[in-house]
Amino acid sequence: VSVSLNKRYSIHVEKNVEKAFFDFCADRYSKEKVILVVDEKVYELHETKIESMCSRYFENLFVLKIPQGESSKSLSQWQQLVNEILAEGVERNTPLVAIGGGVTGDLAGYVAASVLRGIPLIHLPTTLLAMVDSSIGGKTGLNHDTGKNLIGAFYQPDAVFADVEFLETLEQREWITGMAEIIKYGAIRSPELFSQLEKLKDNLSADDGEWIEVIRESARIKTDIVQEDTLEAGKRAHLNFGHTFGHALERVAGYGSISHGEAVFAGMIAATYFSKELGHPIDDTVFTPFMSLYKQQIQSFPSQPDKLIEAMKTDKKVKNNIIQLVLLKEWGSPYIKPCTDLSKLKAAWNYTIDQF
Ligand code: NAD
Ligand code: ZN
Repeated sequence: VSVSLNKRYSIHVEKNVEKAFFDFCADRYSKEKVILVVDEKVYELHETKIESMCSRYFENLFVLKIPQGESSKSLSQWQQLVNEILAEGVERNTPLVAIGGGVTGDLAGYVAASVLRGIPLIHLPTTLLAMVDSSIGGKTGLNHDTGKNLIGAFYQPDAVFADVEFLETLEQREWITGMAEIIKYGAIRSPELFSQLEKLKDNLSADDGEWIEVIRESARIKTDIVQEDTLEAGKRAHLNFGHTFGHALERVAGYGSISHGEAVFAGMIAATYFSKELGHPIDDTVFTPFMSLYKQQIQSFPSQPDKLIEAMKTDKKVKNNIIQLVLLKEWGSPYIKPCTDLSKLKAAWNYTIDQF
């Protein structure tokens, strides 16, 4: 996969990226020092792998561990990392490697963007979600007391190395969260992914070589859409399929009680129902094989459509007070529809509530 934004970089999806990582670094960085920003849980589980991979080329590893969890995407965590990096002493060309899920990537990416106005960044995503979504596209950032992802910058990495061996320790709930984004790519771009994923859904383990193919295809789709967005403004918004509904669910249920992926899965059911109501012929039985997986994760599904609609109105992507929905003409053909028909919205929520 190769992406051309203001900068071209490659995304490697492999089982064991050590050799590719070595070759890449040897080609462009001084071997003196590398900064590793690592999720502490990932470090505990994979210390040997991480150290052997990085010390094959770099002489000094400056390891900075961050507590696992969304609360690490904070200004105070950002400041602590910047303090430690500046105290250690870095040069403009000292690379920073982000090793962890989307939280680590977003935080470390913003640190790399801001230290010395930008030092080289490499993403080593270790969750399914980070491999197919957050490590691609250059969005970095932090949460603020007033909301999620409100501080940040676009900052592209030099490369992304997705090593599926890391997934061997990933918990089931994290697999399910990442799978929702893959289902999303199927819906908006590549319906073939549905059947591929259906075969894999009972084998949430990276030793199935087919996962590599699905992750590669997903990374390619995200890359393509982000790239097309620079040519044809607005395409990136298609990546929000299921998300306008999903974000409202996360908010009303309370963050943590329903995960991002679970909320997005339910959101895609709502958006598909809405699309059908507008007369688009879509067979929504593609969701059926995944239903039980998501149902078993969701403990209590918020069943107040009015509250959910209110929450949708405060979404970041609302324009002039009108909710912007991503709908489907058919599988693989998304479009943006400003939503003025609140009764259809309520019907979509009621239908979705009934499914869970
Ligand atoms: P995360 O980084 O919190 O990781 C989830 C959990 O998995 C954590 O507890 C982590 O310690 C653990 N973990 C990570 N790798 C593991 C491994 N290999 N084995 C075992 N456990 C492991 O969450 P996430 O789902 O990866 O990412 C969510 C974040 O990504 C959110 O903050 C979201 O805003 C952000 N995001 C950013 C973008 C973007 O474009 N930048 C896109 C989507 C999401
Ligand atoms: Zn998402």
